[in-house]
Amino acid sequence: MTDVLIVGSGPTGLTLACDLALRGIAVRVLDGRSGPHRESRGKGLAPESVAALARLGAAERVTAVGTRGLILRKYFDGDHISDTPAGDGILIGQWQVEEALRERLAGLGVRVEYEARVTGITQDGSGVTARLGDGRSVRAGYAAGCDGGHSSVRSLLGITFEGHTEETETMVIGDVRAPGLSRAYWHQWFTSDGGGILLCPIPGTETFQLQASPERAESGEPLPPSLEGFQRLFDRHARVPGIRLADPTWLSAWRVNVRMAGRLREGRVFLAGDAAHVHPIAGGLGMNTGIQDAAALGRTLADALTGPAGPGVLDGYEAERLPAAARVLADTTARHERVRAAVREPGRGTEAGMA
Ligand SMILES: Cc1cc2nc3c(=O)[nH]c(=O)nc-3n(C[C@H](O)[C@H](O)[C@H](O)COP(=O)(O)OP(=O)(O)OC[C@H]3O[C@@H](n4cnc5c(N)ncnc54)[C@H](O)[C@@H]3O)c2cc1C
Repeated sequence: MTDVLIVGSGPTGLTLACDLALRGIAVRVLDGRSGPHRESRGKGLAPESVAALARLGAAERVTAVGTRGLILRKYFDGDHISDTPAGDGILIGQWQVEEALRERLAGLGVRVEYEARVTGITQDGSGVTARLGDGRSVRAGYAAGCDGGHSSVRSLLGITFEGHTEETETMVIGDVRAPGLSRAYWHQWFTSDGGGILLCPIPGTETFQLQASPERAESGEPLPPSLEGFQRLFDRHARVPGIRLADPTWLSAWRVNVRMAGRLREGRVFLAGDAAHVHPIAGGLGMNTGIQDAAALGRTLADALTGPAGPGVLDGYEAERLPAAARVLADTTARHERVRAAVREPGRGTEAGMA
């Protein structure tokens, strides 16, 4: 019998899986994807997250490949204005963090089961049954919904996701090569029209993570991301002749969402990571908060499964992490406002969201 069924193999689900497997607890990890992704997404690991990965035995490659102390190079209307050091922690692509955790998990005898989308959940006094899209079902003592901001588990449990989505403020993002552009800096170009483009070198790869204010149609609607659009944005904001962006391996769009789950537990099922809270990326706290959630949920489930479980043991996770989620939402909203104001001033950039 599986002790804990983990739905979702992002950084949150994989951290939880390693934590529980290391304690000898039987886990299964299901993911609806067809396989691992290679998207840079959350690219900053805070020192606490590095420490959490080290406790799991998954930090070695991350620290070997990742960059420390990258310089943020700020330009305004094409001119280089200032350089500032990035904060503490390690810069590395999210897919590389996931790869390190997946390999650690495989070493503990657990492999992620792909093409396994959870579409139904029922529970009774002794366990949880998850129904999959292909008709199979999986039974476990407990389940954890680590299935991201659009969490099916959260919806299936009927848990609210209160907050707001900013309809107008959007960003296009992606991973591209930029041959000829120095990889020694996180380049941040802003212009007096209020727009900008950022290119951050992802270590261990030839790509940069690109983030930019989108092109807009005459109606004001943001245009979807494309390589040609990225090049036009680069030419408009960076004004560096001769650099041709190439080989996009990820193209996406992002908008500000500030939302959190009304509760983190329904009976034997828990929520963690983006399934429980989404917020602005300023300060880079999303993946890191998910890793901290996973560590806390690992402790709670281990107490319930192996400790002298008192009646309140399962409440410990929500008591710790729901207030933490509320703090992160308020904190990242304030950081986001600081960055929005800062980038209008020559020489300032995303470091305004780090403090
Ligand atoms: C441009 C950008 C920059 C960012 N920068 C940072 C940063 O610097 N630092 C930081 O900490 N965070 C950052 N983030 C946020 C970070 O990417 C997320 O917070 C993080 O991915 C959340 O991890 P998770 O494991 O909770 O969810 P996800 O990574 O979303 O993983 C959820 C998984 O669940 C699977 N799934 C979904 N539904 C189902 C289902 N029904 N059944 C089975 N599987 C399912 C999905 O396939 C997916 O693999 C950034 C995000 C973006 C887009």
